[in-house]
Amino acid sequence: MPKDLDTGTPAGLNWAGNLAYSAARIEQPTSIDEIAHVARTAGHVKVLGSRHSFNDVADTDGVALSLETMPGDLVIDPDAHIARVPAGWRYGRLARALDERGWALSALASLPHISVAGAVATGTHGSGDAVGSLATAVAGLELIDSAGVLRRLGRGDTGFEGAVVSLGMLGVIVRVELDIMPAYEMTQTVYDAPRWDAVLADFDAVTGAGDSVSLFTSWRNPQTFDQAWVKTRGAAPLELAGARRASGPRHPIPGADPAPATAQGGESGRWFERLPHFRLEFTPSAGDELQSEYLVPRGRALEALERLRSLAGQIAPLAMITEVRTIAADTLWLSGAYGRDTVGIHFTWQPREAEVRALLPRIEDELLPLGARPHWGKLFTVDAEWMPRLYPRWDDFRELTRALDPRGAFRNAYSERMGL
Ligand SMILES: Cc1cc2nc3c(=O)[nH]c(=O)nc-3n(C[C@H](O)[C@H](O)[C@H](O)COP(=O)(O)OP(=O)(O)OC[C@H]3O[C@@H](n4cnc5c(N)ncnc54)[C@H](O)[C@@H]3O)c2cc1C
Repeated sequence: MPKDLDTGTPAGLNWAGNLAYSAARIEQPTSIDEIAHVARTAGHVKVLGSRHSFNDVADTDGVALSLETMPGDLVIDPDAHIARVPAGWRYGRLARALDERGWALSALASLPHISVAGAVATGTHGSGDAVGSLATAVAGLELIDSAGVLRRLGRGDTGFEGAVVSLGMLGVIVRVELDIMPAYEMTQTVYDAPRWDAVLADFDAVTGAGDSVSLFTSWRNPQTFDQAWVKTRGAAPLELAGARRASGPRHPIPGADPAPATAQGGESGRWFERLPHFRLEFTPSAGDELQSEYLVPRGRALEALERLRSLAGQIAPLAMITEVRTIAADTLWLSGAYGRDTVGIHFTWQPREAEVRALLPRIEDELLPLGARPHWGKLFTVDAEWMPRLYPRWDDFRELTRALDPRGAFRNAYSERMGL
């Protein structure tokens, strides 16, 4: 049983176990009325998704709400290509239910274990030059605000572009409407040891080698990345950046058991069994770990990678793996890809939080001047002063929070730190 689905997971901890939530109580409502009552009456309230964030973005000193027991079903509008999804559903459940009915999503994160509303609220993404973050698939949201009123915000409505990546600050999202497309098949192919110089010489060719491309480095070999993973509906190349196809299945972390990883080897299969790196039935990634990620403007990505290479000696002892992915530009105010094509540079750290936190400012000193935005759900030390510089619509988002939640019920220590 993976630790995310294990009912034995200690209540009150996040998935990584580095945070004990400080909520006075956790409630599991089973109706909209119950949610509205809590939203209206609690001094402070916050929804817990599947608790995969590595920081206190979901924490509150008031009431924590878990939507896992909320009834509700998937409703598909085949003409509009829209799925209405209960907000607490995990992508793994959603993907299977969509596929059974002949539908698919254009993107998934590296793991299917996360909740739809939680992932969207933090700007969670997969990879692909032409693929936006998971939040860009959102066509509408139904949320209960801190007056207990159920509202719907759809594409085109005033404030919608601020309400999607919301850090859970606007209300309790109860349903999410997502763009869907006809189900498809794809392949996943892994390449061992792509050459750094070849990747840097033609980054666009490498990231354009499939619908979704990930580059992995443990920073231990100055000549080569560890692996590249290419997921595509077309033909995967025979070679990539001087690298051959892997001889067998791989885990993104070198030397780790590949059993939790999704099918590789170029074999064609269902979209939702290839787009994530990890299978729903297994603990994803290393399990005992921390994560950070910085979203860099694509035009500065090579510079960012070079700057990080100069820190490899400090990063390598703490990093299990770094993943480099691409994300298409979007218009969502708090998205890491707002207004620019983006490259995500992710770190899976060993669970040595004090040492990781000591290193992050060094990394941020290199990346922030390039316009890097920290992933909202992972560890970072960037403070409130930077935020308006990184997000052109920062003040608009702040105003939106005041309009939808005038009494500040959905604010928490995290939002205070961000200056929201
Ligand atoms: C192993 C692992 C792999 C990961 N891989 C990726 C990856 O590939 N790409 C990536 O971008 N990120 C990745 N992440 C980060 C992860 O996607 C984010 O932290 C995401 O927010 C987790 O979703 P969650 O449901 O656990 O949200 P939580 O951490 O539970 O909550 C996140 C935020 O959403 C809010 N929220 C949740 N539900 C609701 C709701 N119904 N209404 C209002 N607010 C709500 C919470 O209050 C909080 O503010 C990974 C994390 C882990 C542990």
